[in-house]
Amino acid sequence: MKKFDVAIAGGGVIGGAIAMELARAGLRVGVFDRQQPGQEASWASAGILSPAPENPGMIAMVEIGKASFARYPEFVAQVEEISGIKTGFRPKGTLEALFSHDTKAELSTIIAVHHGLGLKAEPLRAEDARELEPALSEEVEAAVLRPEEASIDNRALTAAVLEAAQRSGAEIFPGNGARAIWREGNRCKGLVLQNEKIEAQWTIIAAGCFSAAIEGVTPYAPVRPAKGQMAALRADDLKIERVLWSENIYLVPRNDGRILAGATVEHVGFDKRVTAGGIEKILSAAIELAPSLKNARIEETWAGLRPDTPDHMPILGPTDIDGLLMATGHFRSGILLTPITAQLIREWITEQRVSVDWERFSPLRFQSASTDVARHAPA
Ligand SMILES: Cc1cc2nc3c(=O)[nH]c(=O)nc-3n(C[C@H](O)[C@H](O)[C@H](O)COP(=O)(O)OP(=O)(O)OC[C@H]3O[C@@H](n4cnc5c(N)ncnc54)[C@H](O)[C@@H]3O)c2cc1C
Repeated sequence: MKKFDVAIAGGGVIGGAIAMELARAGLRVGVFDRQQPGQEASWASAGILSPAPENPGMIAMVEIGKASFARYPEFVAQVEEISGIKTGFRPKGTLEALFSHDTKAELSTIIAVHHGLGLKAEPLRAEDARELEPALSEEVEAAVLRPEEASIDNRALTAAVLEAAQRSGAEIFPGNGARAIWREGNRCKGLVLQNEKIEAQWTIIAAGCFSAAIEGVTPYAPVRPAKGQMAALRADDLKIERVLWSENIYLVPRNDGRILAGATVEHVGFDKRVTAGGIEKILSAAIELAPSLKNARIEETWAGLRPDTPDHMPILGPTDIDGLLMATGHFRSGILLTPITAQLIREWITEQRVSVDWERFSPLRFQSASTDVARHAPA
């Protein structure tokens, strides 16, 4: 039987980054993926790095988002150095365009909310926004510039993180998914794969939106897929520097000249089909924001499955089963939250303490009163 200090179920950017951190801390780490690692949400993503809340419900995530964002430059430097792979990190800011007729009120609310959360944001008049980003529509009434935000090529990042994990000593096992956690009494002894058991002192579930399908995990990680469709465009006569947002779309420029446009949010199960309606919605919103995109070539379309949770917050940390941790449910912010997730899991395992409060994201928050009673009943 294979034995590890740490067994990780799932080799997306989250599982890969945790493996890298723990291997660098000297632990023997095995990553088990049911397919080739790095081909799910971490591949499909847009790679925007923005701690700003998209809606009031997401304000509880701002602190951890800021903490993760602050670590990004160092994280990228480390991953690129170990892996030898460039990640396309672009710390060029993001710009949110406003179309409404009451932009003055909208603008001051957005700026006040950002400043209240300690996020840098500057109001821009339409003409100043268009000077920065000439591709913006004439219909844009005003804009918010968040100069410190960034984006990254998530496909390159995920490949780099997995390579860096391996070069740091972690072992990766493709096509070897977890069927269940291996539980004996109140201890998790490792993972049950298709045909074998893996023994580990620590077991980490990082299987994205598929985590709940691993037997024994659902009470801690009731994740479900939220499909996102995307399109990659290329336009020779148009340059976009920053990530551009409107209420209906984001446009993310890559270093290779591609412009990513996305994304839908659909709760339709484990369905990754690209639909006419989905792409129509993306393209019409993209052209509304940057009209000259109507001449752009469509280079690629795809869809991926975000790991959504009942409260849309990530699920991080220890469970009430000894040795079992969750690192999943990152929904729309998994790329942003990769550095902090890996750091906190490493701190918990090697130092039994964490440097950022993660209580809000505990895997125990979904347990009902009845399971609470069962949990505290004598074994
Ligand atoms: C269209 C789209 C746009 C996005 N945009 C952004 C963005 O701009 N910024 C941002 O921060 N985030 C964004 N996200 C979210 C982000 O991509 C995810 O939160 C993040 O990639 C989740 O990473 P993960 O490693 O947890 O999951 P995944 O990347 O899905 O990896 C899970 C892994 O687990 C494996 N697996 C499945 N079942 C098992 C099993 N039983 N045993 C072992 N392994 C298993 C899978 O094969 C896969 O390799 C976006 C997501 C999508 C889909």
